[in-house]
Formats: sequence, C-alpha cells, structure tokens
Amino acid sequence: LTRSFSNAAPASLRSPNEDDLTHFRSILAPHQIVTTLGNSSNSRNDLDPYNRDWTNRYQGHSSLVLRPQSTQQVSSILAYCHERRIPLVPRGGNTGLCGGSTPLSNEVVLSLEYMNVIHSLDASSGILSAQAGCILHDLHEYASQRGYLFPLEIGSKGTCQIGGNVSTNAGGQYYYRWGGLHGNVVGMEVVLPDGRVLRLNMAEGRSDVHGGMDSAASVGGCHRKDNTGYDLKHLFIGAEGTLGVITEVAVACPPLPTSKHAVMIVCESYSTVLEVLVAAKEELGEILSAMELMDWQTLTLVRGSLGDSSVSGEALLLDEMLDTKNDSTTASSPPLSQSTATTPQSPLYILVETQGSNSEHDASKMDSFLTRLYDSLTIRNGFLATDSKRIHTLWNIREACNPAVSRSGYVYKYDVSVPIEEYMDVAAEVKETLSSQGSSFFPETAVCVWGHLADGNAHINVVTPGIFTKDESLASHVDESVYGSVLRRRGSISAEHGIGQSKSEILGKIKDRSVLDVMVQLKQLFDPHGIMNPGKVLTSDMVSNMKS
Ligand code: FAD
Repeated sequence: LTRSFSNAAPASLRSPNEDDLTHFRSILAPHQIVTTLGNSSNSRNDLDPYNRDWTNRYQGHSSLVLRPQSTQQVSSILAYCHERRIPLVPRGGNTGLCGGSTPLSNEVVLSLEYMNVIHSLDASSGILSAQAGCILHDLHEYASQRGYLFPLEIGSKGTCQIGGNVSTNAGGQYYYRWGGLHGNVVGMEVVLPDGRVLRLNMAEGRSDVHGGMDSAASVGGCHRKDNTGYDLKHLFIGAEGTLGVITEVAVACPPLPTSKHAVMIVCESYSTVLEVLVAAKEELGEILSAMELMDWQTLTLVRGSLGDSSVSGEALLLDEMLDTKNDSTTASSPPLSQSTATTPQSPLYILVETQGSNSEHDASKMDSFLTRLYDSLTIRNGFLATDSKRIHTLWNIREACNPAVSRSGYVYKYDVSVPIEEYMDVAAEVKETLSSQGSSFFPETAVCVWGHLADGNAHINVVTPGIFTKDESLASHVDESVYGSVLRRRGSISAEHGIGQSKSEILGKIKDRSVLDVMVQLKQLFDPHGIMNPGKVLTSDMVSNMKS
C-alpha cells in the first residue's frame, strides 16, 4: 500500500468558456443548458444539484450542465469536447455512492435526464429497449404491465437511471436470483469520446431521432445470443462513464412472477444466520429470490428515523422486531455506540423472499422452510408476509437502511465482498479497533451493517451520530481497518457500488500492476485525451504516468 496517487485534473484539459457556450447554444435549446457562464440567468443554486452527490460527501464546481435529448446531440457534444480537450462528467440519477457523477472541479456535466424514452418490450423475447436516462422504476412499471419483470431492483429505483445502473454495474437485491447486468444487458448504444456512435447488438440507426425509434427497429436486430467477435458492450458495463456515454440499452427480462412470499427471521447469532442461509437454499431452491441481512444497530436507526409515530406498518413491525418493549431504550431515541457487537441483545435480521409462478407450491415450500427453522434452529422470531402489503412493509424497512443511516450523521461508507462465513467479521474488527482507540481519539461512532447476504456483499457504514462533517483522521483509520480486513480475507473492496472518486486511490494501491496497466491502456484507446470523467476509477496520474 505504499504507492501514492494524485487526482489533480490533468494539465492538458481546460475548463469550458463563453465561446464554448456559444457553440453549445447553437446545438441545444435554452432549457437544455444550465450555466453561470456568460450572460446566463442561472445562478449557482441552479447548478448545485449537479455539483453535489446523494451522500453530500462530494462537492464539484461545474459551471456548465448540458442536457442532450438525442444520441446525435451527445455525439456532437463529445466530438466538440474531444477536439478542444474539455473534460465531461456523465450524470444519471446521481444516486451513486462513490462520487462518480460529481465533477472534481469545473468539468462539463452531461446529464442524461431528457433521454428518457422507453422504446419497446418484445412480447416473445422479453427484451426491453430504452434510452439511458429512463428512471429504473419506470422500467419496472413498463415491464410489469406487459407481464415481465425488470431484473434489477435497488433502493434508489425512483431516481436512478438505467444508464447509471449499467455504468456502475449495479447489483441489488435480486442479483442472486436473476444475475447481474453483464448477463442481462443484451444490447447497447454508446457514444465514444470522439463522437463515434457504436450500436452493439442493436438495430442500425434511428436512435438519433428523439423519441422516434419504432419498436421493430429497436428490438429487431437485438438477440439474446450474439457471438460475433469481441463483446464490446461489457467494457462499458461498470466503466462509470470513463470510456464513453451509454445512450441506449436493451435488457432481457424474465416473465413476471405471480407468487411472492417473504419472511423476516430474527437470529441470535451469525452462526444461526449461516444455518438459515443453507436451509433457505435447500428448502426453497429455485424460488429463492433474495436474502438480505440487517443488523440491530441499523434497524434501530431505521426505527428512529420514523419518529414517535407508531401508526405506520413499518413502525409497528419494527417495534415487534426490535422487541423495544423489553429494552431499556426507546425506539425513537436509539442508543448509538461502538460497543454494539453481535450479542444476544443485538440480533441479526434476515429478509428472505421467494418468487414463483404457483402460489400453492411456493407456500408449501415456505412452510417446510419455516418448519425446519423452528424445529431445529435457534431462531429468536419470524415475521411472515404472504400478502403484497405486508411484503412491501418488509422491503420498505430494508430500503430505509441507507437513507436512515445517512440522516443520522456523516457516514464512512464501504461496500465489500467477503466469504459468506466471514460476512460480519470485517465490521467486528472495525468496532474492535475503534473501541481500542478510545473515545478521546475520535468522535463517537456507530457501525451499521446490512447487505445482500446470499452474494457475500456487506455494506459497512461507520456513522458519527449528529456530526455531519468528515473527520480526516477517523476516515483514514477506518479505511485502513476495513480495507486491511477485506484484503486479508481476499475479498473485494467494491462489491457493487463501483470505484468513482472515493476508491480510485485504493484501487491503484491494491490492484495487480499488470491488470492496472491493461485498464490504463484501454482508457487510452477509447479516450486518448482523457476527457471522460477524469479522476474517476483511475486516478489522473495513473493515466498520465502511463503516457510518459
Ligand atoms: P449516477 O450516480 O448519476 O452515476 C454513477 C456513475 O455512472 C458515474 O460515474 C457517472 O458518470 C456514470 N454514468 C451515469 N450515467 C451514465 C451514462 N448514461 N453513460 C455513461 N456513464 C454514466 N447500488 C447497487 O449496486 N445496489 C444497491 O442495492 C443499491 N442501493 C442503493 C440504495 C440507495 C438508497 C442509494 C441512494 C443508492 C443505492 N445504490 C445501490 C447505488 C446507486 O443507486 C447505483 O450505483 C446506481 O446504479 C447509480 O445510478 P445513477 O443513475 O444514479 O448514476
């Protein structure tokens, strides 16, 4: 971990100026430009949402936001910026958790928000094709109205865009059941930094007409199987806007499940969690769709975020789950401290969901699963949901984890993959090193863990309750503790959130040198002037050092 890196903007790039604005005004309508350059009527406040990330941890200083409506416009903008060495940051729904869509300084922000046309869903293949700026939730609705399930589900679905999802290779709750975007994205249109448009396993042309692509042209030409040489679309899945701008995607959707069941299981210890995991796989088999884990500390914060209200289904259920009546603390003023190791007082919660096509069959499988748990395992409690309202309540609790923790203080966020047996061990080590330092060194912290258990993907969030500013010394201490613990377990420092600006430096330190070299070579091949999202994924000096 001794190599050091810099993220300063490369000297070869320049900020946009008034002449550039004049050019962009010649190709875009006034409502497609937000800027404080020149004689614009916009203020800094109009630019603020584009300069801040969802977590409020990153601040950019862009003075120009462009909002193209067509692939043709994206292509013209990129070709112009490529020629003049003006850096750009593609922006989707801005829900990324690594600062990937926040400019580092004064790059042009290229927002896909107006490219939100859903083209079609082919009734026989289930392939849905849409522009990259479509909101994920809209794709869910569109697919389900046509009898299909959009196979990506994440808590930010009301805001994030499919182009952002593909660019971050988002994982989510159904990764275990439906697989990742590398499997489900079957076609893509992407604009390269020099303005060239690549249609990868997609029908030719037509996408340059805003909203004008007809269904036949859009889905025809997109096949589930296409083995004609290098499969370039995979390079853009997870590239976080560093290789080009995704403007359209085609996604294979499975038939909509007609039967759903869910249960929240309360376990005394992580060893019971592992037994529940094995039992779920064995008893539920092909209908097991999700297994999410939450710790007590996190759910206490979720309950706290609901306030004193005990009328909502979520609050009532959480009171039962947390067993607050028997606790000395109240749910609305949750205790926060480092010393919340997994003890009998701090149980773990697993949300298990099944999806299938035969309710009777699925209910009988769920029944066998629960019988096995109650007969042979030491689970503390279980909350079954068979109707959609109660299933929603369980998922609302799960999806409230991220926002509730973010509202309680500054969050040092980690998204790691470790062997499933060691899922809770990284957080336990972090708690131990924090408490060994004593409270005189650092502000009070709470360590919250939740995530996609079946995939070995843990979200570890160290929060300083009531303090919303970053403590640099605490940050480097926690970084060292989390990354050290993950690397000792041969885990991954980013399971599904990507690298963005928050992990580019650590990536440079830990990634195998020869792999990094090939990544830099690819970057130079696609983006020789380094205009695409500089300083994200690869630090600026990794790219420039390779040149020399
Ligand atoms: P943005 O944040 O706008 O951008 C993310 C990156 O992609 C940036 O580098 C940006 O430059 C690039 N980009 C965006 N659009 C394009 C494009 N069209 N072409 C090229 N590059 C582009 N993530 C998970 O994986 N699983 C989860 O379960 C999950 N749950 C979440 C829950 C909450 C409450 C929140 C706030 C976030 C969660 N996330 C999760 C993280 C986030 O929602 C995902 O990373 C999401 O895919 C980002 O999409 P976006 O449209 O918001 O992208």
